[in-house]
Amino acid sequence: MIARISSIRSLSTRVKAFELQLPEAVSFEAGQFVILKAEIRGEVIERSYSIANAVAATTNTLELCIALNPSGKMTPFLFEVEQGEVLEISLPQGGFVLRQDSRTLPTVFVCTGTGVAPFRSMIAQRLADGDTEPIYLVMGNRFVDDMLYHADWMSLAETNPRFQYVNTLSKGAPMGNSMKQGYVHEHYAEIISNHRDVHVYVCGWEVMCKEARQRLKEMGLTRRQYFFEQYDG
Ligand SMILES: Cc1cc2nc3c(=O)[nH]c(=O)nc-3n(C[C@H](O)[C@H](O)[C@H](O)COP(=O)(O)OP(=O)(O)OC[C@H]3O[C@@H](n4cnc5c(N)ncnc54)[C@H](O)[C@@H]3O)c2cc1C
Repeated sequence: MIARISSIRSLSTRVKAFELQLPEAVSFEAGQFVILKAEIRGEVIERSYSIANAVAATTNTLELCIALNPSGKMTPFLFEVEQGEVLEISLPQGGFVLRQDSRTLPTVFVCTGTGVAPFRSMIAQRLADGDTEPIYLVMGNRFVDDMLYHADWMSLAETNPRFQYVNTLSKGAPMGNSMKQGYVHEHYAEIISNHRDVHVYVCGWEVMCKEARQRLKEMGLTRRQYFFEQYDG
C-alpha cells in the first residue's frame, strides 16, 4: 500500500512523528506494527515500526514515532523525506497486543525511547476496559530532551487516578519531584513487588529487554505474565 506523509513533527532531538495517510481505512489492534519498505541506493530496505496512534480504531491515518540512527540504512532516508512524499507500507501486524486476562489485572508497561509508541493505544485500551485495576507506565530515557509524549502522559495521569506515570532518567537530572532517576528496572521491580499478580508489557531495544527478561524471571514471574516487543530481535 502507498501512504502519503501528511505531517512530520519533531518529538525530541532525534525522534520524529510521521503521520501517514493511507489510501483506505485499516483496522489494527493496539500494540501492532507496520513495515515500511523503500529502495535506498539500489537496495530494498524493510523496517518495522510500532503504530503510535493514541487510540486503536479503524482509520486511514497512522502515526509512527521514529528515532534516527545516523549510521543506519532506513532512518537517515526517512529523516530526509518531506511532507507530501509517499512511502510503501504494509498492513498492521504482530502479536504484541493486550492479553484478554490483562483486563482484570494490574498492568505494567515498561519502555525506553521509541518503545513507548505501542503503549499509547495499549494504555488507552486498558483505560477503556471497565475494571479498576491500576495501570503503570514506566518510561526510561537518558535526558529530559529525549522524553516522548511527556505532556500527554502527565495529563492522562492527572485525569485518570488509576494510571500512574513513572518517568525515569538514566543520565540527566530529573526535573521536579515527579521524575525519577536511574534505569527502568529498579522502578518496575518496586511496583511489581507491591502486587500479588500482574501483567508486564516491555518494549524497546535489546539491552533493556534482555535485562528485563532476566529480572522478571528472577522476581518469580512466569512466561504467562510478561510480554515483549524487542526492536532488534
Ligand atoms: C516490531 C518492531 C517495531 C519497531 N518499532 C519501532 C518504532 O516504533 N520506532 C523506531 O524508531 N524503531 C522501531 N523499530 C526498529 C526499526 O525497525 C529499525 O530497526 C530502526 O529504525 C533502525 O533502522 P535503520 O535501518 O536506520 O538502522 P539499521 O541499519 O537497521 O541499524 C543497525 C543496528 O543499529 C542498532 N540501532 C538502530 N537504531 C537504534 C536505536 N534507536 N537504539 C539502539 N540501537 C539502535 C540496531 O542494533 C540495528 O540492528 C522496531 C523494530 C521492530 C522489530
